[in-house]
Amino acid sequence: MQGVGFRQATRRRALELGLSGWVRNSPDGSVRVHAEGPAQALAELLDFLQRGPRGAHVTGVEAQETKAEGHEQFAIRGVSAGEFVVQEHAATARHFDLRLQVGGAMRSWAVPRGPSLDPAARRLAIEVEDHSIAHNAFEGSTEHGAVLLWDRGHYEQGGRVAWPQALQRGHAVFVLHGHKLHGGFALQRTRAGEKPQWLLLKRRDEHARPGSDVVAEQRASVLSGRTLDDLLGAPGTQRPPR
Ligand code: MN
Repeated sequence: MQGVGFRQATRRRALELGLSGWVRNSPDGSVRVHAEGPAQALAELLDFLQRGPRGAHVTGVEAQETKAEGHEQFAIRGVSAGEFVVQEHAATARHFDLRLQVGGAMRSWAVPRGPSLDPAARRLAIEVEDHSIAHNAFEGSTEHGAVLLWDRGHYEQGGRVAWPQALQRGHAVFVLHGHKLHGGFALQRTRAGEKPQWLLLKRRDEHARPGSDVVAEQRASVLSGRTLDDLLGAPGTQRPPR
């Protein structure tokens, strides 16, 4: 049932009907839909799904009742929202910078201990100033230390609330597709103010690795294969884009 704008058409119809939830493509070629709202509107969405958008060939629709998830949007899931990078950074102290593309900028958090694939690990993440997308590809030694491109890829925005409101409210769920980091993560704000503090958490899914320490196990740059110590020992400095 995929293709022919099925997800876009489903979202459009759901919004017309005042429904919330999500639509996503499954690896088996089917389209999965989660919808919440009044029974009459749900029946009309089901009617739409049985016909599909123009040009669609609907082979069958299976419907079942499920638990309400409390969505405030009707989102298309499984679609890239942009780039993400994690840069290991030696400055006054070593830390990792997580950057997510939101609109035209990279929203950024300094994570002293780095990200983890262990759902039990709650990593402090201090919100820092946005960086430019041009900074994503930067790696090298700098005047005061070095920056290593530890991981990069693209990410999906998830959760019940649309972005960027989810960030404004202090709870943002996302899915990373990197070289080292995969699967669902959440950023939970724990302290507002001048330097907002968050926790970076790995969600429990098939990509979770309980007991692992990915930053210790995989130190090499995804760009060059070098480590931060290699960069700190290398001659010459570069000026990174902001
Ligand atoms: Mn930094």
